[in-house]
Amino acid sequence: MSAVDRYRVTPGASVDLTKIPTSDTSAFPEATKKSSRNQLGAMNERLSELQRLLWADGSRSLLLVLQAMDTGGKDGTIRKVFTGVNPQGVDVRGFGVPTDEELAHDYLWRVHARTPSDGRIAVFNRSHYEDVLVVRVLDLVPEDVWSKRYAHIRDFESMLVDEGTVIRKVMLHISKDEQKQRLQARLDDPAKAYKFNASDLDTRARWSDYMAAYARALEETSTDEAPWFVVPADRKWYRNLVVSQILIEAIEGLGLRYPEPSDDLGNLEIT
Ligand code: ADP
Repeated sequence: MSAVDRYRVTPGASVDLTKIPTSDTSAFPEATKKSSRNQLGAMNERLSELQRLLWADGSRSLLLVLQAMDTGGKDGTIRKVFTGVNPQGVDVRGFGVPTDEELAHDYLWRVHARTPSDGRIAVFNRSHYEDVLVVRVLDLVPEDVWSKRYAHIRDFESMLVDEGTVIRKVMLHISKDEQKQRLQARLDDPAKAYKFNASDLDTRARWSDYMAAYARALEETSTDEAPWFVVPADRKWYRNLVVSQILIEAIEGLGLRYPEPSDDLGNLEIT
């Protein structure tokens, strides 16, 4: 079993996020903030090699779904984990409040259009899970509508997996205290203040409702083929190592090889 499997949500298990640590470091017990820089650098290189292999093979793709409470570190994770990976092979897509056009379609329409094509990596910065998180917490659609979505999402993801996409879903798990500090830091730093959004405080006020919505989503949609990981995210350096490791193992697990050259290269002479 891999060290990061401790954060994998067992399919069918009940989830209580108040009991899951936000500042654990046990998957990399030797690592420190300082030593993690070199370790992350090595992981960046490995992920970059694996992305080249994924591209060369051309038959599979990888989808990373990132979800978190505000200030949970989605942007920082993407920046740090994908440093050094060829930008041509990675599509990062944020999903905000749906546009009128998006709302006029089913809720999976906008995400399906952004799933990775063969050989590529797609990162969802928020995702279709908002349609069972914020939508549920704010009663944006009735319960009999959102409650059917877990089954849709399982089927949708299962179809993507059957068609060649590897899916890894990560909830960056921060404590309410850590969020307070990060929001305060945004207020205090002119270079970060633009990120402060007063509506983040309304979301924070509903913390326990969001945790309940997350728990239900994790219980309903963590499957063997499209697992969720609840990653302790109070320590940014640790979160980066864990998410990198999850992705490295996901691609390594495919057993890809570089394709054989199509021509008999032994007979070629370059003049
Ligand atoms: P982020 O906070 O991820 O940096 P934004 O500031 O653009 O990005 O915020 C995105 C907002 O869009 C969040 O408040 C999120 O809850 C909201 N959102 C995303 N998807 C939906 C949805 N399907 N319905 C309603 N709101 C949504």
